[in-house]
Amino acid sequence: MTTATELPAPGPTTPGTGAQAPITMLNPDFPFSYDHYLAHPDGLGAIPAGLYGTEVAVVGAGLSGLVTAYELMKLGLRPVIYEADQIGGRLRTASFPSAAGVVADLGGMRFPVSGRAFYHYVELLGLATEEFPNPLAAATSSTVIELAGEKYYARTPADLPPFFREVAEAWKAAVNDGAKFAEMQEAIRARDTARIKELWNALLPLLDEQTFYGFIAGSDAFKQAGFAHREAFGQVGFGTGGWDTDFPNSILEILRVVYTDADDAHRFIAGGAQRLPEALWQHAPSGMAHWPEGTSLASLHAGAPRGAVDRIARDGSGDFRIRERWGREAAYPAVVTTCQSWLLSTRIHTEETLFPAELWTAIERSHYMQSSKTFVMVDRPFWKDIDPATGREVMSMTLTDRLNRATYLLDNGPDQPAVILLSYTWNDDALKWLALDADQRVELMLHSLAQIYPHVDIASHIVGQPITVSWEADPNFMGAFKANLPGHYRYQQRLFTHFKQDKLPDAQRGIFLAGDDVSFTAGWADGAVTTGLNAVWGVVNHLGGSSAAGNPGPGDVLDELGPIPLD
Ligand SMILES: Cc1cc2nc3c(=O)[nH]c(=O)nc-3n(C[C@H](O)[C@H](O)[C@H](O)COP(=O)(O)OP(=O)(O)OC[C@H]3O[C@@H](n4cnc5c(N)ncnc54)[C@H](O)[C@@H]3O)c2cc1C
Repeated sequence: MTTATELPAPGPTTPGTGAQAPITMLNPDFPFSYDHYLAHPDGLGAIPAGLYGTEVAVVGAGLSGLVTAYELMKLGLRPVIYEADQIGGRLRTASFPSAAGVVADLGGMRFPVSGRAFYHYVELLGLATEEFPNPLAAATSSTVIELAGEKYYARTPADLPPFFREVAEAWKAAVNDGAKFAEMQEAIRARDTARIKELWNALLPLLDEQTFYGFIAGSDAFKQAGFAHREAFGQVGFGTGGWDTDFPNSILEILRVVYTDADDAHRFIAGGAQRLPEALWQHAPSGMAHWPEGTSLASLHAGAPRGAVDRIARDGSGDFRIRERWGREAAYPAVVTTCQSWLLSTRIHTEETLFPAELWTAIERSHYMQSSKTFVMVDRPFWKDIDPATGREVMSMTLTDRLNRATYLLDNGPDQPAVILLSYTWNDDALKWLALDADQRVELMLHSLAQIYPHVDIASHIVGQPITVSWEADPNFMGAFKANLPGHYRYQQRLFTHFKQDKLPDAQRGIFLAGDDVSFTAGWADGAVTTGLNAVWGVVNHLGGSSAAGNPGPGDVLDELGPIPLD
């Protein structure tokens, strides 16, 4: 959809190039340049040589756990990773059983180029990426928007009726009037952290208690435009499609996405997103402290991580004692947990005294989005066939207000089996699928698509078994990703800043939270990476190490740049 984020904004230039500096995921709550920190030749710090080889427990082998473990290994520590299920976590790629090379990304699948910390690892590991076929993106040959039975076909945004331009303009005006969008993007381009903080810290108290819907309904632009524009905005949205299932969430969550272009310019990892965590697991970095060349996380673990964690407690010596599901126990001077933090109370017996009471409140009150995806493999990218009656492709990337909400067409090349993501949904829309099995879901999805494409026999192209997922039904996740409700800023601030522990009593130091839901940009893998880096800083400092003098780490600048308390 044409959006504010796609319209060129005036901005500073990169010195000496004349080119406009890019937007990055320089989050306004903590505008720390993690990409510069990672690229710095002095590295992420050092621990006392006497501690080389010290074991540190890392709970979870998703992206956050693997980044944490990888960087701890490079510093000479011995990360010990625990994983309840698959290496990769929510970067999970499934293969269709009858064609192993044909894959579906069940969790994270499209990664904004502004997520520079995420791409640091993609590039380091040499993974190929391609543009993701989002609605109206250059990689998408055509898009159909179907609302209230009306169908609009477009190759570019300009093909859509003026109504959609009005909706996009109303959104642009709403974020400029109510949230200083253009100024914030200019400050982000310039990496002007003082200006970012100045803008954001003034907005926080005004907007923390506002829902996404309240924000747009209260804006002059949408008030003037009327309900139909608000409704269409909810259904068609910006960047990736409809966002109305986010309407009850805090507007702050949405602003973090649009300021940082997280919903724009997406790429996918060729072969599947799970290749990234798998590559981190296998990679042997050179020049590590302590470890010989050729050492990798896989070699340190003799090929497999330890099992599911069942209990985390202090032992008599002050170390953390970790018990696995099948009883094995081990002690560590530091622990990083990267699973969804709800699991610390629901699935892991975590000693209550390890965290302050207000942190437990933040953990328990977190709000997670549900999310469901259903994929089918088809014999070939038949949607590119041209309908002789219209001269158009017979089927397009589709946004609809029907059950499916969004249908993506994933091409693997001519005459190769292709993949259709029949439906990708969140929240209430995802709950509609929860009770149904894969075949029932596919039947309903095909029924919806038949109303939009009455002359296309999609079912006749399907081969093999469908693949479906509902993340809220998986006990190792219990939800897709966090999305804060109004009034939750305080909770997120506590969770995010917990890695700097100088104000905590000794009994509560040494255990660090990382991962998607600890970040301010849950639902984007960049936050899994950056909170992992925060935890690395925390562990290094806890063990008596420090950052490199010329490369201050996140904890070194948290007091200056970090999220402000609201009370
Ligand atoms: C449906 C969906 C769509 C998404 N789309 C995108 C996208 O397009 N772009 C994007 O950038 N991001 C996207 N994301 C977000 C992205 O997938 C996450 O940010 C990222 O994968 C989270 O990594 P993590 O390591 O923080 O958590 P996880 O991947 O959840 O890793 C935590 C790990 O802990 C393990 N675990 C749980 N309990 C235990 C236990 N008791 N003991 C040991 N291990 C345990 C879990 O099995 C898991 O492997 C999406 C997520 C979902 C669910």
